[in-house]
Amino acid sequence: MQVLADHILRVRAANPGPLTLSGTNSYLVGRDPAWLIDPGPSLPDHVDALLAAIAQRGGLGGIAITHEHSDHREALAVMRARTGSPPVAGAGPGADVQLADGTRFGPLLALATPGHADGHFAFLCEDVCFSGDAILGEGSVFIAPQAGALAAYLAALRRLASLEIALICPGHGEPITEPRAKIAEYIAHREERERKLVAALGAGLRAPGALLDAAWSDVPQQLRSAAALSLTAHLHKLLEEGRLPAEIEPDLPLRELRQ
Ligand SMILES: [Zn+2]
Repeated sequence: MQVLADHILRVRAANPGPLTLSGTNSYLVGRDPAWLIDPGPSLPDHVDALLAAIAQRGGLGGIAITHEHSDHREALAVMRARTGSPPVAGAGPGADVQLADGTRFGPLLALATPGHADGHFAFLCEDVCFSGDAILGEGSVFIAPQAGALAAYLAALRRLASLEIALICPGHGEPITEPRAKIAEYIAHREERERKLVAALGAGLRAPGALLDAAWSDVPQQLRSAAALSLTAHLHKLLEEGRLPAEIEPDLPLRELRQ
């Protein structure tokens, strides 16, 4: 557990991995009551740590979910059952409050940040942004392999960059104390991937594996299937912009590259 500011406590789950980095971060905001952002994975030690911190902070006002991936929401049912069934805000089927951009939930303001997952939300509390997997403490995120996802993601990043944010508390990794620089780095990273992909297409490469090797050459083998998701998202964006060679089918890479 780490106190990040007077009113913010981070509780990190012991589920480290290539996609979860050092583990999923759950956050408690405020006291009397506290509000929980992402219950995290259903690991007994993690749940116990959250319950102890919630008890110290005067109970739980509600649970907010950034997105529906299991490493962020798996412990929802047990946390809810053991904290007196406070309201849940999210974009999934179990939510009492269905989030939309601008929804207020206790001290939190929901910001639609699609891209990594459909129905992904960040939460703003004063000048602190809880970014879920839209922005991570290190590395980049993978983008959902569907039409519109990357364009929507870039728009969400640009909007975040326009807000007065002093601290980003990500779903994985360490807090980000220079939000504007990090968001600019994220946008530049996607532009760089696109440049490499367009160059590979221009050089006549067509096989998904060859495109992946050309534009994601730095990605370790264990993240190759995640990179294939992002490749698909990039191909969709080029298609939407009329820049994809006609013989390429953007949804092909996943079938060929999943291992
Ligand atoms: Zn995650």
